[in-house]
Amino acid sequence: MSHNILVNPVRNSEGSQRKISNGVKQFGFDMDGVIIDHTEMKMRLAKELGFDLKPEETPAEVIRNIIPGDQLDILKRRLYDDPITGLLSGVMPGAKEALREITASQTPLFLISRRKNPTMAIELLRVHGLWPTFFNEGNAFFVNEPKEKNERARHLGVTHYTDDERDVLRVVEVSHSFLFDHLGVFKEDEAYVHVQTWPSLLSFLLQ
Ligand SMILES: [Mg+2]
Repeated sequence: MSHNILVNPVRNSEGSQRKISNGVKQFGFDMDGVIIDHTEMKMRLAKELGFDLKPEETPAEVIRNIIPGDQLDILKRRLYDDPITGLLSGVMPGAKEALREITASQTPLFLISRRKNPTMAIELLRVHGLWPTFFNEGNAFFVNEPKEKNERARHLGVTHYTDDERDVLRVVEVSHSFLFDHLGVFKEDEAYVHVQTWPSLLSFLLQ
């Protein structure tokens, strides 16, 4: 795995001296749990199924140990596919501002999501003004398995990839991996850079 990233300090359009990409860096982002914050909706939908979840029990790698598979499938359908409840989750705090800065830095960015229903995913991004402003048909990819995330990321030349699932980061082999853990439930690990907020992630990405 290469860790050689060439970055030149160049001036952006506002003339600031922030180091921005010379074109070598390319950012990849997972959607759910990184761009979109499902914490409240997961708690609400879980409650309808009889489960009282704390916020820190909502991340994908935690909730699956609490809610049995068949009921979790019901929750996921309501969260991702339902034309009403599927559009109620909000944007992760700071994500929109960060995407604006990344776009201004002219670093290529990509969305690589495992949503089974891209139409609803796109609609949710559209509701929040993220589609087509930051993500569009040209830079958003929907795949099925984590290994397909890896194939897509490598094919695109992604150098920095951010996901909220450790299982996915173990499979996606890029130079720089970031675990987005906004609820602070996971441990530090040498396999990834652990970040809890978008401003923190952005400072790593654009340094
Ligand atoms: Mg995710």
